[in-house]
Amino acid sequence: MRNTLRTLVILILVVGTLPGAAGASEPVFDARDVPVTIRTYQGPFLTPAHHRSALAIATEILKAAGLGVQWRICEDGIAQDSDPCSAPLGPNELAIRFARQPLPPNYRGPLPLGYAVVDTQARSGSLATIYVDRVDRLARDSGTRTDALLGRSIAHEIGHLLLGTTSHTPTGLMRAIWSSKALQRNQAGDWLFTPHDARSMRDALFLDQH
Ligand SMILES: [Zn+2]
Repeated sequence: MRNTLRTLVILILVVGTLPGAAGASEPVFDARDVPVTIRTYQGPFLTPAHHRSALAIATEILKAAGLGVQWRICEDGIAQDSDPCSAPLGPNELAIRFARQPLPPNYRGPLPLGYAVVDTQARSGSLATIYVDRVDRLARDSGTRTDALLGRSIAHEIGHLLLGTTSHTPTGLMRAIWSSKALQRNQAGDWLFTPHDARSMRDALFLDQH
């Protein structure tokens, strides 16, 4: 990726109440879902239970946008040549890594939970990072579920990668600020992609395939 075109997209969330997310049952994909493969590099920062549940929640959000996600679980570190995790990303393949980045003591203000590296000129991206410790802190401070916040954050960053933009929308999952008021309101539409963004993501994946 060209450094000059890289733009860091910061997802800013504000402490608030996050009511329970949808259940983590396995969604059923159909032929109309546009396939996308997403690798995750979780390192030592996520418990298996949180990892599994967060991916299920992200899967549901992306499915509602018409995307059929296949997760490829990778470990940080050196992989064997035969390991698919050691291969370059293929068409319609993205990557999420989970990391930690502690905030300075007595930090106040918006809480960036992660970022996506986006080539805004080519309108594409392939790698996003989620700061697990910040998600955990926000969930703990707001008395909400870490896995739900993780799943929604993952889907938001995938949105940036597929939309190839640093911008946000005034409504829906791609809002820049997840305010306490909105979190407490917990309207379903606040945690889904807008129809326009969903269509744009499907179009981006379709163009990658043809
Ligand atoms: Zn964002």
